[in-house]
Amino acid sequence: MINLNGKVAIVTGGAVGIGAAISKELASNGVKVVLNYNSSSKAAEDLVAQIQANGGEAYAVQADVSVSEEATKLVNAAVEKYGRLDILVNNAGITRDSSFKKLSEENWRKVIDVNLNSSYNTISPALPHLSESDAGRIINISSVIGQTGAFGQTNYSAAKAGLIGFTKSLALELAKTNVTVNAICPGFIETSMVLEIPEEIRGQIVAKIPQKRFGHPEEIARGVLFLCKDGAYITGQQLNINGGLAM
Ligand code: NAP
Repeated sequence: MINLNGKVAIVTGGAVGIGAAISKELASNGVKVVLNYNSSSKAAEDLVAQIQANGGEAYAVQADVSVSEEATKLVNAAVEKYGRLDILVNNAGITRDSSFKKLSEENWRKVIDVNLNSSYNTISPALPHLSESDAGRIINISSVIGQTGAFGQTNYSAAKAGLIGFTKSLALELAKTNVTVNAICPGFIETSMVLEIPEEIRGQIVAKIPQKRFGHPEEIARGVLFLCKDGAYITGQQLNINGGLAM
């Protein structure tokens, strides 16, 4: 088991939803968290204050990780602030749902940029620093939709499936180093991303989940903690936290 005390993590989109739960979980286990946000500046400030009030360490950095220069700026800010980098959680994500016939090129590209290209953008500058860690961890937040597909989500499922392939290939390339690379594939988790779905459709989704409920962001955060702490011999995997929705 790895002692996480004093380790440094970047959590992209770490101020709200699943990312906020991950930031809190890591901070409460002694990790110094660089909490990235794009637009949620107030939520980021509040979360940093909350983590510090609980005796943890966190630092908020604004960056649009779909833009390569901004992702590099984020990684540099983390290393300047804390002098090292051990954990990178690529959590930033968006949906722009529509049937393929109505899908604009803009919404195709935007979803691929934020959900998939962002991981290239962060991992490229982060890798030299992660490689210096005795327990480097890259955790990409994919989705059950990347495994199963979903009506109206060709863009999102392509991005999330792409992230799984990227995870496996990079895990192979880094297997002889101290850096592990894994994906977490959440099912439907109670955050704004799911609460935006019309209530009637949400009811239909819950009916299809074997455990008959949505997941909580904290349940994903505990998966991240597990991979960081106990995951030295786990690489290239998909950790499915989905209430049995896909097996
Ligand atoms: P959310 O509440 O909508 O949060 C999305 C997060 O992504 C926010 O922190 C947002 O930051 C960040 N983000 C979006 N665009 C960004 C950009 N260009 N640069 C930096 N950050 C950006 O959704 P969530 O449910 O917590 O989703 C978190 C991750 O889990 C996503 O990758 C999502 O695809 C994945 N996921 C979610 C579910 C689910 O059911 N909720 C299921 C499977 C996978 P700002 O608010 O600062 O803009």
